[in-house]
Amino acid sequence: MVTGSCMCGTVRFRVDADFSTAGYCHCTRCQHRTGVPLGALSGMVAADAVEILEGADSIRTWRPDEGFPKSFCASCGGHVWAGEPGSGGVVAIRLGALDGDPGIRPRWHQWVDASPDWEPLPDDGLPRYPGPREQD
Ligand SMILES: [Zn+2]
Ligand SMILES: [Zn+2]
Repeated sequence: MVTGSCMCGTVRFRVDADFSTAGYCHCTRCQHRTGVPLGALSGMVAADAVEILEGADSIRTWRPDEGFPKSFCASCGGHVWAGEPGSGGVVAIRLGALDGDPGIRPRWHQWVDASPDWEPLPDDGLPRYPGPREQD
């Protein structure tokens, strides 16, 4: 079990299962969402295992035409996850939102073709996928 929150602490949540995988996404959406050119690190976990403890009213969600809905805190803008907690699917938790060790380490980089040339990826030995990662 690990807890997490947004930057200001209004939104608090708990994850009660092991992450199935974790990795960096370098897509342009993640770049604009984070404001960071290097990949955003998320961990995948069963949506049923994500419980909102506080601040449900402050969660705002952007629902693009395709891809997971992206949720963040209305007060501070801090990212919390993509996906629908409690839906029976999978939620991608922003690992930087966690209070402790997620118990998993990054395993891949995806959408590396979208990563800017002026900020090279670190040579960390992880598999790199030009587009979406292959399922592992
Ligand atoms: Zn917040
Ligand atoms: Zn992305």
